[in-house]
Amino acid sequence: MFDVIIIGAGPAGLSAAIYASRAGLDCLILESTMYGGQITSTPEVENYPSVKKIAGWELADNLYQQAISFGAEFNFEEVKSIIDDGQLKTVITAENAYVTKTVIIANGAKRKHLGIDGEDDLSGKGISYCAYCDGSFFKDRTVCVCGGGNTALEDALYLSNICKNVYLIHRRNEYRAQKHLIDSVNRTENIKPILSYIPLKISGEKSVESITLKHVETNEELTIETDAVFVCIGLLPENKIFSEVVELDENGYIIADETCKTSCDGIFAAGDTRTKELRQIVTAASDGAVAATAALSYINQMED
Ligand code: NAP
Repeated sequence: MFDVIIIGAGPAGLSAAIYASRAGLDCLILESTMYGGQITSTPEVENYPSVKKIAGWELADNLYQQAISFGAEFNFEEVKSIIDDGQLKTVITAENAYVTKTVIIANGAKRKHLGIDGEDDLSGKGISYCAYCDGSFFKDRTVCVCGGGNTALEDALYLSNICKNVYLIHRRNEYRAQKHLIDSVNRTENIKPILSYIPLKISGEKSVESITLKHVETNEELTIETDAVFVCIGLLPENKIFSEVVELDENGYIIADETCKTSCDGIFAAGDTRTKELRQIVTAASDGAVAATAALSYINQMED
């Protein structure tokens, strides 16, 4: 039996593992793909306190090595469900059923899709959800970025260094990104903002050739020839498998406040997967610490 099972090995899960194992808890991290989560597709992180600049993969590796050094176990296994047996929980994976006193869900969130014609067919053939992973395939070519948040503007700036032209397509007439990103975008000559347009369809025979847009007020249609479309329209939590044990909000995030406590005693939620205002590495890491400390208190109470 484990003291705590952590689901997900992004900054929240690995920080939880550092705090839990350092506090002497028997801790198992379960991760379905690779450790690091979203930061592994970020070339440079420069807003993590005390670290001036670091590659995303390097920060992920540091976190992983630190967690393992304190004794956390790590298995590549996909979690299928959690069973709440009252005092104890059972975490079911394809291979195993693990009994544990507490669970910290830190499974992050995935990139949202546009849900328009052509998107599924041309995904991987010019449609991408990760500029840092696929941008270099479009060196000196024309690309589009959809979205108006931090990710879209960061990705547009990154692509502007590689590609000839970057059309930044946003459905409103103002961005929701941070001011310094908006200023940089406005200063970058080869980023061409297309505001107040929503994507209608993406077309192409074998790969992306164009994107068709519609003006939100006039309904005027506009087709832009492009070699790629980078979709950066936000995050989608994947918490259906947990919906029988913890309450979710209307967008699918696990309902938990700054204490990381969920509606189920002994299950905690940390990082992007929970309801919160600011989804950042630093807030994910902070959640990891809070959730692990809350798990320790819960275990101490169980044993009193
Ligand atoms: P986001 O902030 O939720 O922005 C999503 C953008 O996509 C919004 O501009 C939204 O438009 C647009 N959008 C949503 N659905 C759409 C649709 N169906 N069609 C067209 N446009 C659509 O998402 P994000 O940029 O991925 O960021 C996620 C979180 O990570 C945020 O909390 C963000 O602050 C954080 N983040 C921070 C940094 C950083 O600080 N360096 C970097 C990346 C991400 P509306 O504006 O009209 O809603």
